[in-house]
Amino acid sequence: MDLKEHIRAVPDFPKPGILFYDISTLLMHAEAWQETVRRLTDEVAPYKPDMLVGIESRGFLTAAPLALEMGIGFFMVRKKGKLPGETLEYSYGLEYGSDTIEMQADAVTPGQRVIVLDDLLATGGTMDASIQLLRRAGAEVAAAACIIELTFLEGRSKVDVPVHTLVSYD
Ligand code: 5GP
Repeated sequence: MDLKEHIRAVPDFPKPGILFYDISTLLMHAEAWQETVRRLTDEVAPYKPDMLVGIESRGFLTAAPLALEMGIGFFMVRKKGKLPGETLEYSYGLEYGSDTIEMQADAVTPGQRVIVLDDLLATGGTMDASIQLLRRAGAEVAAAACIIELTFLEGRSKVDVPVHTLVSYD
């Protein structure tokens, strides 16, 4: 199955000049979504992770079914201020300004192997920041996986763990 047939490209979103790859159409197609989850599981399972991590917000949609399929837990990396209880945070630079992400302090025990999931790898900034945060929490980040990769942005060069993606655009 060609997953690209189920990914919609939306011009000029969220701003003029940006071509946005929309996974809504992939989620709406039961067989294509099942195939996506199966293929991601094949990529990720050999690492034998203890836990999966989803990056807000489409990373949650990606990580949750995988965790269920693999019979392991998953937790969320979120934008600052959304998670209750004690949190760890990490701030990183954006093109304009900066952003802060958080995770719950007790989500991992030191040395646990995790794999980080998101829907799409663009510049790699979001993935790299999440990996740095997870390491701060003591996690061993075994790999990263996304459904889509925008290869022309060379995001994987920013990420210092193996990166697995299912479809790419250049
Ligand atoms: P990066 O930090 O790698 O530049 O951007 C990746 C983040 O932005 C991901 O969390 C992803 O959800 C979001 N993102 C950027 N561009 C797109 C796009 O074209 N489609 C989708 N679905 N997400 C995007």
